[in-house]
Amino acid sequence: MRLIMLGPPAAGKGTQSQRLARRLNVPHLSSGELLREAAASGSEQSALIGEIMERGGLVPDEIVKGIVAKRATEPDATEGFILDGYPRNVEQAQSLDRAFASHGLELDAVLEIKVDEAVLVERVANRAHQAAEEGTGPRSDDKPDVLRDRIRAYRTETVPLTDFYGERGLLESVDGTQSMDAVTADLVAALAERAAESG
Ligand code: AMP
Repeated sequence: MRLIMLGPPAAGKGTQSQRLARRLNVPHLSSGELLREAAASGSEQSALIGEIMERGGLVPDEIVKGIVAKRATEPDATEGFILDGYPRNVEQAQSLDRAFASHGLELDAVLEIKVDEAVLVERVANRAHQAAEEGTGPRSDDKPDVLRDRIRAYRTETVPLTDFYGERGLLESVDGTQSMDAVTADLVAALAERAAESG
């Protein structure tokens, strides 16, 4: 099964993607994680990627595309994957469409976790507080001003994808302000319903 997970920063996309990935027995492909690895790898592009991520901007499409495509064609992803964080704008979605078409693959569904911006800001403050207590320090892009930029990037760049996929009948939206378990249950139910409908 090939799925895309959409949702603003701190909506719980990572956790929900991991949970679904385990259930569906497919890998969780997080573009943010892949880019963090690339930023730390000491490659030619590392410094550029790291600098953009630090300030909450979007890494150029060509770079992200290459990194995600490489991971998505590894052997464990032949039966499917959950893409978390990619695509993040319409250009990336169009590029992904072309990649799917050229490999004869189909997207099964796009899952959107919806959370109000005020709730997100509060969540990140809590996450930073918890990280400080655990002595690990917050993720550098979880600082409040960087988070605002990440939310803005989500609003302007990524939200249009809900129409892009909604018009094709691929979108399933769930309320991300519920408990983690309730969100997982809604996502699982949405997928089960789609499977039942498609017979
Ligand atoms: P995430 O872990 O998904 O919140 O991503 C962390 C950061 O990685 C983002 O703020 C961006 O700087 C970068 N990033 C992740 N995915 C993408 C993408 N698809 N396109 C461009 N930048 C991305």
